Amino acid sequence: MKHKLFTPGPTPLPEEVRLIQARGIIHHRSKEFSDVFKEIREELRYVFQTKEEVLLFSSSGTGAMEAVVANLFSPGDKVLVIRGGKFGERWAEIAAAFSLKVFSIDLEWGHVVNPELIEKNLREDSGIKAVFTQLVETSTGVVYDIETIARVTKGKGVILIVDAVSGLGAEALCTDKWGVDVVVAGSQKALMIPPGLAFVALSGKAWKLTNNSNLPRYYWDFKKAKKAQDKNQTVYTPAITLVCALGESLRLLKKEGWDNVLSRHAKLAKATRQGVMALGLQIFSETPSNVLTAVEIPLSVGVKRLRGLMRDRYGVEVAGGQAALAEKIIRIAHLGAMEATDIIVVLSALEMSLSELGYPVEMGKGIAAAEEILGR
Ligand SMILES: *Cc1c(COP(=O)(O)O)cnc(C)c1O
Repeated sequence: MKHKLFTPGPTPLPEEVRLIQARGIIHHRSKEFSDVFKEIREELRYVFQTKEEVLLFSSSGTGAMEAVVANLFSPGDKVLVIRGGKFGERWAEIAAAFSLKVFSIDLEWGHVVNPELIEKNLREDSGIKAVFTQLVETSTGVVYDIETIARVTKGKGVILIVDAVSGLGAEALCTDKWGVDVVVAGSQKALMIPPGLAFVALSGKAWKLTNNSNLPRYYWDFKKAKKAQDKNQTVYTPAITLVCALGESLRLLKKEGWDNVLSRHAKLAKATRQGVMALGLQIFSETPSNVLTAVEIPLSVGVKRLRGLMRDRYGVEVAGGQAALAEKIIRIAHLGAMEATDIIVVLSALEMSLSELGYPVEMGKGIAAAEEILGR
């Protein structure tokens, strides 16, 4: 059976990306590697929409999140975290682990943050040094309005830190233009390569904070990383194979055109939403993202049974909910190397599985609604 991933990381790999990883390994101090890395550095600046260097680390996305805290802050620093799901909570946990003083705006999961609330918090405590949030809160499927949030933080003594691990490459993010200070991303989502690389982009304002931070760090030193990258090198042995895979995936995405990549994600997301709604199911997210669609599943069907059937019978893997949402939603990712027919596949598996589990489905109704969007 073909195994088809519709999870918000890892995402499927294009054939070109799979094949390049089968080649023999090259040395990371060779000219060959530097040439690949040079091209990647340039392209990443474009993808992150920044003129600043984009740092590359060999780790999962969370490693880069932790590195941001370790490089920019000192114990006791006050920070404000938007906690609207699992990943918002992660920022708060990391900040607390490094002894920062964490304030949070707690949202009901599935909802967006009101930027005015951020403004109010900053007005009431001028000592807050940073606002931490997500572009897409992957646990709830919600996309936050980063442009408006950045208007609140811009020009103040506070930096805006955005975890765009799932969002980058699927949602618009104009880092420099909007005034976002830190962007974190990962390899196994829209960038279409396996897990194992993480990225951090920092504004000039954020770089200045690295001078005052006194938290311990060694491997995760941003200044050391920047110095090496300026010479098309990494400080330590990088995940060479993944770097080569990244070179290939960036070439593919560039060839498609980044605007087309974003509009493809938007179209697939819309088709998925129309498809599930045509089946009488509800979308969980207040502002559904182009990364994934979070769908409420009736208790009578059961998330566990539904996911199990979709996987075992049809080879289709969707994600369940996290934490309190475990038995409430499924999350269908349309992220990375995805195209129109993939959406038909996942909706078809959903229809057949729902029907088998006793949920009243008019077969083909979800697919037809998606085709209305996809065929345009
Ligand atoms: C996937 C993801 C991460 C990083 O997770 P890792 O498993 O550490 O790669 C962080 N934030 C968001 C929003 C994500 O979707």
